[in-house]
Amino acid sequence: MEETIIALASAPGVGAISVIRLSGEQAIHITNNCFKGKDLTIQKSHSAHFGYIVDGSRELDEVLVTIFKTPNSYTKENAVEISCHGSPYIVQSIIKLFLKNGVRMAEQGEFTKRAFLNGRFDLTQAEAVADLIASESKAGHELALKQLKGGVSSEIKELRTQLIHFASLIELELDFSEEDVEFADRTQLVALIQNIQRYLNKLIYSFEYGNAIKNGVPVAIVGKPNAGKSTLLNALLNENRAIVSDIAGTTRDTIEEVLTIDGVQFRFVDTAGLRETQDEIEKIGVEKALEQIEKSSIFIYLFDINELSFNQVENELNLLNTTIPFLIVANKTDLMSTKQFQEYNTQSNLECIFISAKQKSGVEEIKKALLRAIHTSAIENFDVVITNSRHYEMLVNTQEALKDVLNGIDLQITGDFLAVDIRRALESLGRITGDISTDDLLDNIFSKFCIGK
Ligand code: GDP
Repeated sequence: MEETIIALASAPGVGAISVIRLSGEQAIHITNNCFKGKDLTIQKSHSAHFGYIVDGSRELDEVLVTIFKTPNSYTKENAVEISCHGSPYIVQSIIKLFLKNGVRMAEQGEFTKRAFLNGRFDLTQAEAVADLIASESKAGHELALKQLKGGVSSEIKELRTQLIHFASLIELELDFSEEDVEFADRTQLVALIQNIQRYLNKLIYSFEYGNAIKNGVPVAIVGKPNAGKSTLLNALLNENRAIVSDIAGTTRDTIEEVLTIDGVQFRFVDTAGLRETQDEIEKIGVEKALEQIEKSSIFIYLFDINELSFNQVENELNLLNTTIPFLIVANKTDLMSTKQFQEYNTQSNLECIFISAKQKSGVEEIKKALLRAIHTSAIENFDVVITNSRHYEMLVNTQEALKDVLNGIDLQITGDFLAVDIRRALESLGRITGDISTDDLLDNIFSKFCIGK
C-alpha cells in the first residue's frame, strides 16, 4: 500500500480524452516531477491544473491534472488523474515515464481494493462497484447502486454485533464453568437468532430474482408444435428474428433472444430447440420439456385455443409437474367467434392470457405478466436485494450454523459447543461485509475487476 500505482482508468483505445490514474503517498509528488506547469505539491485538493507531461526536456502531451489529497479521494490516498489526449501511444508513453519514476502498474481492481482496505467502504460495496460498471439494464443498475450505498451491510453489521455480544457472554460462562452459571439468557438468544434467521431468509429469498435481474431472467416458451411459439416470440421481440413456417420443425438456429421490459432483461432460452422439444412432449414424454423449463426462472405455456380444452391444458401442465412459475397463454383467438370464445372462457378457473400472436394482440399483457411474475416491484419493496452469489453462499452458511445453535440450545448442549456454532455463524456473516477477510478472498474478488478500477 506504500507504493504508488498507476493505470489507465478510461477505456483503452483511441478517444477524445484518456484518463490515467495514480494513487499512493507519492502520487502528487511524482506527478509534479514529470509536470511542467504549477507546483502541484502546494495546490489544494480537488483542483485541476493545465500543463505538460515532460520527460526531461521532451514534452509528451498537453494535459489537465486533477489532484486529490488524502483522505479525500477514491482510495483515501493521495491521488492524481491525468487527462491526456486519447491516443494509445500517448497513454503508453506517459505510463512508461511514470514507471521509470518509481511508480508501478496497478493490479486488477487495486484502486478499489485500496479503497476497501483504507476503510472507504466495506466488501459488499466494493463488489457493487464492479456490478455497477457491468450493469446492462436499468434494474441491474438500480440494484448495484443500492448496494453501493451500503444496502445489506449496515443491517448485517448490527445483527453481527448483537450475536458477538452473546458469543462473549457464553465464552465468559466457560471461564466460570465450575460454578454452573448462565450469563447468556437462552431465551433472549433464541429470540435474537430467530430474528436473524427471518432477516437472512428474506435476503436469501431476494437472491432468486436479484440474481435473475442482474443476469437477465431466463424464460422458456413451451407448447405443442404449431401452437404459435415462434410467432409469439417474434411478436414479443417485435421483429422477424425466428423463422416462422407452417412446416413443423423449421424453427432452428435461433440463438438466445433478449427482450427488455421496463429495464428488466428477459432471456428466451433454447429457442433453437423449441419445436423439437415440443415434439418430445407429445411423443416421448415430458423429460426434455422439463429440461428446458428447468433452465428458466419462468415459462410460458402456450396452446392453440382451437385445439385444446381447458381440461387438456390442465392435464398437460400436470404432466410437467414443476415448481417453476408459469403463464398460461391461449393463442389464435382470432380464429374463434366471439360466442365460441365466451363459452370457452367460462369453462375454467385457470388464469389465462388470451392472445393472437399473429395479430400481435394480447402481447403487452404477456409482458406485464412477466414483469409481475418476477416481482419486479420487489426491487422497490425490498430494502436490499442480494445479487452476488458469494453473499448468497455466506448467507446460507450462516443459516446452517444458526440452525445448529438453535438445535444445540434445544438439546441443552454445553456452552463450549454453542460457542463453536455461534462463531461459525459470525464468521460467515463477517465474510459478507469483509469484517473477516483473507488475502485469498480479496484476491479472488478484486481479480474480477479490470485494471484501473
Ligand atoms: P410453433 O410450432 O409453436 O413455433 O408455431 P409457429 O409460431 O410456427 O406457428 C404455427 C402456425 O400457426 C403458423 O402458420 C402461424 O402463422 C400460425 N399462427 C401462430 N399464431 C397464430 C395466431 O394467433 N392466429 C392464427 N390464425 N395463426 C397463428
